[in-house]
Amino acid sequence: MKLVDAPGKANTGRPLKPFGIVVHHTASNRNADPDNVVAMCVRGVNKVPGPLYNYLIKRDGTIVKLTAENVKANHAGRGLQSVLTRMQQNNPVIGDATGPGKISANSRLIGISLINDGLGEDIPGSQMDALVELCAFLCDGHNWNPACAVIGHKEWTSRKVDPLFSMNELRGMIQRRMVTDTPVMTLPKEPEDGLVPFPGTLRKGSRSQAVVHVQRVVGALADGIYGRGTLAKVKQWQRAKGLVADGVVGPKTWAAMQIRRQEVVQPAFY
Ligand SMILES: [Zn+2]
Repeated sequence: MKLVDAPGKANTGRPLKPFGIVVHHTASNRNADPDNVVAMCVRGVNKVPGPLYNYLIKRDGTIVKLTAENVKANHAGRGLQSVLTRMQQNNPVIGDATGPGKISANSRLIGISLINDGLGEDIPGSQMDALVELCAFLCDGHNWNPACAVIGHKEWTSRKVDPLFSMNELRGMIQRRMVTDTPVMTLPKEPEDGLVPFPGTLRKGSRSQAVVHVQRVVGALADGIYGRGTLAKVKQWQRAKGLVADGVVGPKTWAAMQIRRQEVVQPAFY
């Protein structure tokens, strides 16, 4: 996952406590310089102050973070209470919105937008792949079911048509990505000993919030992606602790890491 911070990240000063994701496209000019689109989304447009989304995805698959993960962005406008209620109650999304809606819920919804003209411009594989990966990573970290937690802007309000692709297909892709590429992380209940329970085996190729905790323990770059650098650090750490240095974080290695509950209460995803 290629993730970068936008220059001069914006801050609405309002907190984000999300229980889902809204997917958008920017409807920006096809020939516009992507960096200018990023700047516009940080700054805001007309009477809407920035950030206009939480994440922007460029055509090459670069994910640009427009604000901190606990900051609300102004992306979805008014929408349907019934849609929000379904998300809250963990019911699958039912499809395009049946009306414009009256409520604003940006403090509960993460906004992710693809740079796309919204006029039928092709979405490159690299861009779609980054969207699937980011959604899978967020769903995994928040313990969300993508069938319930990921909606399109067109499913939030009938005022909007974005994105133009099938949201059911996207949700299916996210679900498959979570199963094949990421260990399913059940959010830990508060344990007696204050330690985070074993989240399932982590190894090279794993991506999740649990990987971030492991990376912090072994002193690897805490990006949530278990790559070669993390593998080397885990082996080194295992060797130092007298464990089997196989680079796989199973129950024994996890237990030895003694990851405490209070260290994971406020996850920073990136
Ligand atoms: Zn939108």
